[in-house]
Amino acid sequence: MGNLDQIEKAAQKLIGLCQKEKPTKTDKQKMLGLHADILSGIENLTECELCGAISEVIVTMTLAEVTAKLCKECGFKALDVGKIQKTTSRKRTPTAKKRNTDSKKTAPKPAETPQEPESPAALHTRVEEQTGIKKTDVKRLHKIVQEIATPMNLENTLTYVKREVENAKLKVDGQALEKAVEILRDA
Ligand SMILES: [Zn+2]
Repeated sequence: MGNLDQIEKAAQKLIGLCQKEKPTKTDKQKMLGLHADILSGIENLTECELCGAISEVIVTMTLAEVTAKLCKECGFKALDVGKIQKTTSRKRTPTAKKRNTDSKKTAPKPAETPQEPESPAALHTRVEEQTGIKKTDVKRLHKIVQEIATPMNLENTLTYVKREVENAKLKVDGQALEKAVEILRDA
């Protein structure tokens, strides 16, 4: 039984169960089973690498050092020409094109990840680890630092933050505060 047949038969059974007057718990189990059948059927569908057609008969063919999974039609065509013209049909095939852009989209991701700016949560954890200031206070310090509209040098930033800390009645050790401000300011 081909995959398409499998999907179709399972779908029909599923419809039958849905149309029952009083579906039962057993029917639900059957539905789940049928759903799995449909899913595996779909997953097993193989498409031709040239024309994108889904076919039960896909053969892996190698001609002139090019290997591709082909449907019957494309297989015969390739045999006729004596080679598999992957590049030309790729441009014309919407499915192949889509796959190309998809891989492009996903490919640069891993490379980008290390360059991503540190998340606020990670930054707060780092400051907490290095200064011993509680994370809730680190968050408030971070906010104070971020609220500085115009860039200040470290000394002025510290003075400003210290004043804000006093206003907010936060209990932060002076040295720890200096270190935290230094990290938060550079972040
Ligand atoms: Zn084909």
